[in-house]
Amino acid sequence: MIRMGPYSVYLLDAGRLWLDGGAMFGVVPKALWSQAKPSDERNRIELSMKVLLLCLEDRKILVDVGAGHTFPPKLEDIYGIDYRHATLKQSLAEHRLQAEDITDVILTHCHFDHMGGAAERVNGSLRLTFPNATHYVQASQWKWALNPSEKDRGSFIADTLEPLKQSDRLKTLPGECELFPGLHLLLSNGHTVGLQMVKIQDSTSTLFYCGDLMPTAAHVPLPYIMGYDIYPLTTLEEKKRYLNQACEENWLIVLEHDTEVDAIRLKRGAKRIEVAEKVPI
Ligand SMILES: [Zn+2]
Repeated sequence: MIRMGPYSVYLLDAGRLWLDGGAMFGVVPKALWSQAKPSDERNRIELSMKVLLLCLEDRKILVDVGAGHTFPPKLEDIYGIDYRHATLKQSLAEHRLQAEDITDVILTHCHFDHMGGAAERVNGSLRLTFPNATHYVQASQWKWALNPSEKDRGSFIADTLEPLKQSDRLKTLPGECELFPGLHLLLSNGHTVGLQMVKIQDSTSTLFYCGDLMPTAAHVPLPYIMGYDIYPLTTLEEKKRYLNQACEENWLIVLEHDTEVDAIRLKRGAKRIEVAEKVPI
């Protein structure tokens, strides 16, 4: 746990998944990426799904909710969805919280490993997992999620969008904003359209939960960009901008998908920006 302004910040384990190592590193040869992230016999690397829990007085805010439990078995196998370590509900219970206690859910974007957990199956039908929470998604991302391109269709599971679509718990946002005191949503459009990242600032420090702009510490080098990204050159420009700012202002960058590292600070090395420090949360 860390304190950031008025927030108590926790990082919750919402399970693991295994994704194709080549897809996770785009044009980078396996000879390079496999040094940082060894792959299994199906060429997959292990990734975490780490959810931010922010407590602010009566508010209990989640940022992303993991993949959830509504996967068809075939996809569960392909993506190696793994809840042996933890489920999001178990992790919430460790903080004496139940799904009903969550007041707000910020979804960085609607890819299945970030928002699948927003829906759960009860008696054969899907409903909202966090029934009392307002769910925040960028309007541009929501529109895209409902009608993705042929390239990224596999990253969205239409069924899991339905409970939110049919509820009055969805709030689509028109762009960057200060959603709660000191909590800003920043936009990125390279990985997908309207990916919102969370920046929390107090008088002395800044926390940045960057979602899939940079999923693991191994993605700090600029060309290490996922093959999943729909506009990789946009990701490149965004990485340059945010990593430079993060370096200059000593941001604590939280990594959603890194199984080993919760958060990092950056430094300027001889040739490029590098990891300066690994920080547990
Ligand atoms: Zn994604």
